[in-house]
Amino acid sequence: MSETIFGKILSGVIPCHKVYEDEHVFAFLDINPLSTGHTLVIPKEPAKTLDALSDESAAALGRVLPRICRAVIAVTGVREYNVLENNGPGAHQAVDHVHFHVIPKPRHGEGLGIGWPARPLDQQEATHLATKLRAALG
Ligand code: 5GP
Repeated sequence: MSETIFGKILSGVIPCHKVYEDEHVFAFLDINPLSTGHTLVIPKEPAKTLDALSDESAAALGRVLPRICRAVIAVTGVREYNVLENNGPGAHQAVDHVHFHVIPKPRHGEGLGIGWPARPLDQQEATHLATKLRAALG
């Protein structure tokens, strides 16, 4: 896999404003924040999408994400926020290295705007889907 911009940040080739680092995880401020405190949390493992991530990196991310959210709340004073993780260009992923956005939502019009084109769950389809998903999960 060719090195992404986040790989270059991890190796120190490109500078960033680091906010956290441990054995598996690195976090830094987004260069184009949607709101003050917009932070990116990435695994050191160079997985492109979340489904490709090892259990070890996933566990490390899961352990630290709430701590980083608490720090962002404490520093910005903004209690509401979104955590976003895009996978694939059609799903708005621009950098091919797993990253979680922590985006404070100070007020309407700032932070993340979301389109949510929901439709009611079809009960018959849901039964089939859930059965297939349970089987896929083993
Ligand atoms: P995506 O659309 O892939 O979920 O988000 C990529 C994010 O990476 C964007 O929010 C963008 O501002 C951020 N980003 C891209 N290049 C850089 C960079 O060189 N430094 C930092 N700190 N953030 C970056």
